[in-house]
Amino acid sequence: MEKKYDLIIVGSGPAGLTAGIYAARYNLNFLIIGKLNGGAISEAHKICNYPSQNNITGFELTMKMVNHVKELNGEIIPESVEKIKKKKDGFEIQTNKKKYSAKKIILAIGRERQKLDIPGEKEFLGKGVGYCAICDAALYKDKIVAVAGGGNAAITAALLLAEYAKKVYIVYRKDKFSRADPMWVEQLEKEKKIEPLLNSNIKEIYGENLVQGVILNNKKKIELNGVFIEIGFTPNESLIESLGLKTEKGYIITDRNQRTSVKDIFAAGDATDNPMKQIITACAEGAVASKSIYEEFKLKD
Ligand SMILES: Cc1cc2nc3c(=O)[nH]c(=O)nc-3n(C[C@H](O)[C@H](O)[C@H](O)COP(=O)(O)OP(=O)(O)OC[C@H]3O[C@@H](n4cnc5c(N)ncnc54)[C@H](O)[C@@H]3O)c2cc1C
Repeated sequence: MEKKYDLIIVGSGPAGLTAGIYAARYNLNFLIIGKLNGGAISEAHKICNYPSQNNITGFELTMKMVNHVKELNGEIIPESVEKIKKKKDGFEIQTNKKKYSAKKIILAIGRERQKLDIPGEKEFLGKGVGYCAICDAALYKDKIVAVAGGGNAAITAALLLAEYAKKVYIVYRKDKFSRADPMWVEQLEKEKKIEPLLNSNIKEIYGENLVQGVILNNKKKIELNGVFIEIGFTPNESLIESLGLKTEKGYIITDRNQRTSVKDIFAAGDATDNPMKQIITACAEGAVASKSIYEEFKLKD
């Protein structure tokens, strides 16, 4: 018979890791299952807005959070949850490796990257097309790259790439960077290696084995070596579809205690309908979810 946990947290990003820190402090018997420690922050070049951390890499912040969980004897399992089944008393969680069972769960599964859905995007994935500048920027030393997008993620990716590449295009469909924080826009404007191409879309990525260039909506061809797609996110719906949770545009609806519409399922972070998708809000929701769960167990005793 497999061990039954009080709580299984699905996701090891800021929401899941903070839920773990609070679960440990409330003495809950819990497990974190996450595909990628740190989640979205593991891709962040620089984080400057997390209290007390005004200049930290996503990797460093991830390691601090992971170590915090581990210091409290929390266990993080690097597996992918493929199915969650509601049972009479709790849940059965099937990963790519084995089955786990828990009385309650927190879904801290974040969001997925939006695709451009253009010719060449799939074909050249890993051969010049990427979604994570922090992972691959160093491969583009003295090369020419483009970033598609105009929000904070796109601008920070362009700034990072400019540290390596000889030229960086940032291709954005609007006439100004109105979605990004002014601080990032100012830095972008100062960087001479970056050339914004506004009112523009990438329509095709072409090449032979590796990316050789892109074609824009005005038919202009740009020869380059890499394209980073940073155009936003969509909800991570595959795991939650069968659970019957109430959602808003694919994001899980929760109350102030992070309870979802289904008993014993809580949700936290970017996966929820909270409009502010940031580290601090994800951490806060993770903390609240574990506290709510602790209080439910306490009421039962
Ligand atoms: C490039 C970039 C830069 C950013 N910079 C900042 C910044 O400077 N400041 C800021 O406040 N915010 C920033 N953000 C936003 C911030 O990273 C997110 O708001 C935050 O990470 C959300 O945390 P989360 O735990 O809810 O989700 P995520 O971080 O997305 O974590 C989700 C977790 O769930 C796991 N997961 C998903 N599905 C499964 C499954 N089926 N099985 C197992 N595990 C699963 C993932 O592997 C991951 O561990 C940035 C985001 C990006 C992409």
